Amino acid sequence: MTCTKCNTWNPDDKTYCWRCQAELPKPQPKVEKKARTFAGLPTWMWLAMALIFIASFFGQCFMLPVGQ
Ligand SMILES: [Zn+2]
Repeated sequence: MTCTKCNTWNPDDKTYCWRCQAELPKPQPKVEKKARTFAGLPTWMWLAMALIFIASFFGQCFMLPVGQ
């Protein structure tokens, strides 16, 4: 990590800058809580589109005149 005061690189396990003795920010564990995406769209949107597609497909089927 880099010191916020003097921009000197410090080892990650150091709590104080070796150069200016400034307290270094604690490395925060990366918590990746990104929503699952597929091709740039969230998964739920794909599911919604699939549902709409299926619904319209079945809707067309049922709307066809039966027994002409
Ligand atoms: Zn420093």
